Amino acid sequence: MEMMWNELAKSQEKVVRIITNSIQKQRLSHAYLFEGAKGTGKKKIAIQLAKTFFCENQQGADPCETCPDCKRIASGNHPDIHIIHPDGQSIKIEQIRHLKKEFSYRGMESTKKFYIIEDAQKMTSSAANGLLKFLEEPDGLSTAVLTTSEVQKILSTILSRTQILSFVPLTPLQLIEQLEKSGVSKPISRLLGQLTNDIEEAYQLYHEDWIAQARSIMIQLVEEVCTRPHQVMLTLQESWFAHFKEKNQLNLGLDLLLLWYRDVLRTLLANEDQLIFVDQIDILERHALKSSQRTVGHHMASILEAKRRLGANVNPQLLMEQLMLRLQEG
Ligand SMILES: [Zn+2]
Repeated sequence: MEMMWNELAKSQEKVVRIITNSIQKQRLSHAYLFEGAKGTGKKKIAIQLAKTFFCENQQGADPCETCPDCKRIASGNHPDIHIIHPDGQSIKIEQIRHLKKEFSYRGMESTKKFYIIEDAQKMTSSAANGLLKFLEEPDGLSTAVLTTSEVQKILSTILSRTQILSFVPLTPLQLIEQLEKSGVSKPISRLLGQLTNDIEEAYQLYHEDWIAQARSIMIQLVEEVCTRPHQVMLTLQESWFAHFKEKNQLNLGLDLLLLWYRDVLRTLLANEDQLIFVDQIDILERHALKSSQRTVGHHMASILEAKRRLGANVNPQLLMEQLMLRLQEG
């Protein structure tokens, strides 16, 4: 896939600026550690760096994309690029040994080598120590990129021998775009973009329709609060607590309620273009008709108070029942 540094800078401005400066000064580091949440483009930038490293026809800092090196990297079969990822739960010493062996016969087409170690925090301690010797003896012809989403688990001896580049988390908008690209519907993507900025967590919530069900239970509950209050406690028992079982799930349930009332407020203020529950405009309008800015403000404060009490380990049952009574007050 064709990619320019400028394009990558849209999401990782600082990282790209540091790398392209080094390219222009021909002072690339012999080992980088790319650290940051999943989905922030670490692998993509590592591949771009590899292309730039091998390309003989660079256009400014950009690889040409047309030479044999660029093409082979794009198709994932360049003989002098090695990518290591966890074999099961860990990266083992044998994988590092194999890498060293590959390096001992120099490449057929060039003497340069490039290797990427993904999820470097998963190296066993013997693998990490094996790699260390490698990092201590830079030969000026090879470049390493280690990637990790858990930098706190990387040995300090490795940290001190690599140039660390921190990738910023995705913005809600970027996360929504990525989710939509992978087939998640617009209403669910928008909602996930409000609940997390970690793409991995977003996919976990999406898994097996968990978030879609959570969303419809929440809507059923607020609909009953508004129009059929005698059913609220039953729905709480039969649906709500059956779905929001763990404390962190219940906390997400409260976040959903908070987002709902914020949407009611936005409907009241005629800010419909900012709605999260874009496909629920009819219900939102009905709820807005029955509310004022003041009552919606009270409801949001009550939900925040419930979140605080949940954090202080108040009994969830009690906490939700009291919240439901508050939400029914005008
Ligand atoms: Zn090229």
